[in-house]
Amino acid sequence: MKKGQKLYSIFRFKCPHCHEGAFFESDNPFVFSKLGEVRKSCPVCGRGYHREVGFYYGAMYVSYALAVATFVTVYVAVSVLFPSASAGVLVAAVLGSLVVLGPVLYALSKIIWANLFYSYQGPVTAAPEVKAK
Ligand SMILES: [Zn+2]
Repeated sequence: MKKGQKLYSIFRFKCPHCHEGAFFESDNPFVFSKLGEVRKSCPVCGRGYHREVGFYYGAMYVSYALAVATFVTVYVAVSVLFPSASAGVLVAAVLGSLVVLGPVLYALSKIIWANLFYSYQGPVTAAPEVKAK
């Protein structure tokens, strides 16, 4: 993955505009006090992460797709690796994986959603403008 590709921004949790600044308040999705908190703007390039109020509600659609993909992957993996596994084991494996991976899927859904709407613009050469309050 190189800088300039959306996957770089997504899997490193970096600014979708410049691919350098942090996207979340915490880079570790398992820090529950800051779970999925998106910064207001990039600390490096200063470009905003919130194009409108409620922008990240749309990330629910991405989250749903990621959860279904996880569900299918775990279900198929357990079914193939343990052909004699009971339905209870399958349900426990699927639910357990969704609970454990939940914070990662939540963070991924937000940054994937942001990358659908923001494109790479490279670093800012001049200092970002100071916004009036
Ligand atoms: Zn940036």
